[in-house]
Amino acid sequence: MNQPKWVLDQIVGKAEEAYSFMKKTTVKERMLFMQSVADSIEGLGQELIDTAHEETALPHARLIGEKGRTVGQWRAYADAVGQGRYAEACIDTKNTEKGKNDIRKCNIGIGPVLVFGASNFPFAFSTAGGDTASAIGAGCPVIVKAHPGHPRTSQLMADAITKVVDVFGWPQGVFSHFVGEYIEGSDERTGSYLTAHPGVKAVGFTGSFRAGKALFDIAKQRSEPIPVFAEMGSINPVFAFTNALEQRAEALAVEYVSSLTLGVGQFCTNPGVFIAVRGDGMDRFKIALTKAIEPLAPATMLNKGIYEHYQKNKTLLHQQAGVNVLAEAIDEGVEGQGRPKVLLVSAQVILGNTVLSEEVFGPFGIVVEAENYGEVYDFARQLKGQLTATLAATEDDLNAHPDIVDCLKDKAGRLLFNGMPTGVEVVNAMQHGGPFPASTDIRFTSVGPDAIKRFVRPISFQNWPEQLLPDELKDSNPLHILRIVDGQNTPQPL
Ligand code: NAP
Repeated sequence: MNQPKWVLDQIVGKAEEAYSFMKKTTVKERMLFMQSVADSIEGLGQELIDTAHEETALPHARLIGEKGRTVGQWRAYADAVGQGRYAEACIDTKNTEKGKNDIRKCNIGIGPVLVFGASNFPFAFSTAGGDTASAIGAGCPVIVKAHPGHPRTSQLMADAITKVVDVFGWPQGVFSHFVGEYIEGSDERTGSYLTAHPGVKAVGFTGSFRAGKALFDIAKQRSEPIPVFAEMGSINPVFAFTNALEQRAEALAVEYVSSLTLGVGQFCTNPGVFIAVRGDGMDRFKIALTKAIEPLAPATMLNKGIYEHYQKNKTLLHQQAGVNVLAEAIDEGVEGQGRPKVLLVSAQVILGNTVLSEEVFGPFGIVVEAENYGEVYDFARQLKGQLTATLAATEDDLNAHPDIVDCLKDKAGRLLFNGMPTGVEVVNAMQHGGPFPASTDIRFTSVGPDAIKRFVRPISFQNWPEQLLPDELKDSNPLHILRIVDGQNTPQPL
């Protein structure tokens, strides 16, 4: 379905009007709104799960879990907003003797935010996902471009939010949602057009590097450039060290394979590469990995496009020089199903061929055998930015290789000491983002309440009349939020 340009212009116009309203909402009002959205989504029943299952092939249990996560996300972000955490209110009182003015600063929403739904999380990273919750929490109207892979699911989620907008009597433009790839009668994508639209002030995106980078470039070329927070995935390398491999090669193989094939490998934190130094531990790991991969049943991928990308990209990597197949599911599956596969290469081969370090979205991995830790370090050094890096290690292993550990701190947003990177917890301390190309802004996370920070901007009021200040900055602190007053954290009124 395509969209006429005037419809998109109208959506942006309404969002701009709603921004004037949103700017005047307090953190407590937005908290209540977000809590109601959580309740509204929670109230969606079997129809939501069945529709999402039909559109994405994701299993019911996974979808029920993702719905719970999405509801929890709205509640957690609402709490953080209500506490005034992202208002970051700060007051320096007047001091005539020292010649200092009364200056008060807080954050306000950046303006209308364009959100792209992601294919692989129809709830948690889509219409009612983390980007939408973050932007509303920040005080921004949201325009959602639904992912074409699950339009009916998106509509159900959009209706749940619109219902709350109506109950609260907020302007319609606070939340808009549309489906449509291209502008009617043109080959311009709706997402590109809106990213370039002067009324849009920020973009939230999760998906491919190709699309994320295209949107980032459009935003930077505008006469008024805007931020694009694109999370574009990565290969999430696992570095296994000698002691860890010797102690638990078999368990590590099972853990690695279940993470690699979880959700048919369709997670941005999928651990696409496993590297270790050649030896007895690595030999045992390879045998156990093969045993774990071979009996796996291929499963249906999210959509035809993603299946075709998977087939094409895994073939491309397989065809590179010096590449062998380590393991593949025996069952070939049928058209549309992702068949798990793991390649084997030497460190020298992957170091000499950048194609082998590209993400293959699906149940696919590469095991890299290094001759020594010098090669492991070289591999760490040539990595592009990653969402995660995992160290399968003992503490002694880490102490023995500080150069590799230090190098990985520069490469990834989240470092794991054992465990596997899939399963991104929605908590305050989560960092889901990383150096480019994992994301387009290294400073922010797209998961956890701190995701709200992406959509606020600070504003200072100097010697401003008390009654015209936002509630967040009034002397009496009517919202009872924590503020920095003359350098001290305090909830007390002035
Ligand atoms: P995608 O191609 O990145 O599409 C995501 C959104 O961006 C869609 O709404 C799409 O809308 C829009 N879009 C695509 N290309 C664009 C362009 N050149 N300019 C402007 N907007 C554009 O993601 P996908 O459809 O979910 O999957 C395709 C591939 O992306 C996968 O095979 C996988 O490799 C990768 N992927 C990665 C992650 C991750 O988390 N790392 C997640 C999902 C997908 P329209 O097509 O309607 O314009």
